Amino acid sequence: MENKYLYGKDIAEIVDNETQAFVEECKKKNKKTPKIANLSVGNDPASASYEKGLIKKCEKVGVDLEKVQLKEDVSEIELIRVLHQLNQNSQIDGILIQMPLPNHINLNRVRNEINPDKDLDGIHPINAGRFYQGLPCFVPCTALSAMEFIHHSNTDLEGKQVVVVGRSNVIGKPVAQMCLNEHASVTIVHSKSHNIEEICSRADVLISAVGKARLIKKEWVKKDAVVIDVGVNVDENGKLCGDVDEADVMDKVKYLTPVPKGVGVVTNSMLMRNLIQAYKNRR
Ligand code: NAP
Repeated sequence: MENKYLYGKDIAEIVDNETQAFVEECKKKNKKTPKIANLSVGNDPASASYEKGLIKKCEKVGVDLEKVQLKEDVSEIELIRVLHQLNQNSQIDGILIQMPLPNHINLNRVRNEINPDKDLDGIHPINAGRFYQGLPCFVPCTALSAMEFIHHSNTDLEGKQVVVVGRSNVIGKPVAQMCLNEHASVTIVHSKSHNIEEICSRADVLISAVGKARLIKKEWVKKDAVVIDVGVNVDENGKLCGDVDEADVMDKVKYLTPVPKGVGVVTNSMLMRNLIQAYKNRR
């Protein structure tokens, strides 16, 4: 059973080693360290815990981090003013804005203000547009992480049936597009879809990004499917779990990403990879 799990730490290790080697080279050659700014608003506990993970990752790969923490009631204008400062700061190579932002802040306005060249999580419409046209751009890190697992499982997507559950701009849509780019036949299902179970049960690769604890049962899964679980949920007992009912599907899958210890572990490694790309692009 154990070897059916695709663990994030194995993949993160490979990606982080590449990043670390590049950073060391930069320090030697240019006496310069890539630097990320993490902009967060308020005291959301999930964001705080995420930031802890980010700090550890930055230390591990050797990049610099600037923490910018704004108060929960910061105005949209002030947030955008701070973002502009980070855009203009030549020491900062990339920016991450922690989500979710408080309700009084209009994300669509804010996303337009980040410099697309420093937009590490691909939230600016220019990056989204470039992405869907197949041009160089920044792609949301969680979607990249999900793809990294598919590559790591040595699954050739050409001609395969991929089903993505969820259609958000940060995960569902970009992951579907990347599978399409690799010549899979892709179906996206969502909360308004009919016959989801039947559609999913035809998938050679099933990717779930919903946010509903253990939604996906064995009847949803084709025998020997590769199942990538992006969901992060807390169940009725306060336990962290994914969208996939691991115990139920285990007999049927070829590979499964566990939650925790799966996709989430690699997301920050993808962020660091994007930071290195931003650093290279700026030079
Ligand atoms: P989101 O914006 O809320 O999108 C959820 C999607 O799931 C929507 O498209 C929604 O459909 C669909 N959906 C909801 N209920 C459904 C159902 N019963 N059947 C089928 N589809 C359903 O969420 P997100 O930001 O994409 O995040 C998805 C999950 O990934 C969450 O659990 C989140 O915590 C997790 N996440 C993980 C990482 C990581 O690094 N592992 C990072 C970010 C997020 P509609 O479009 O019709 O509403």
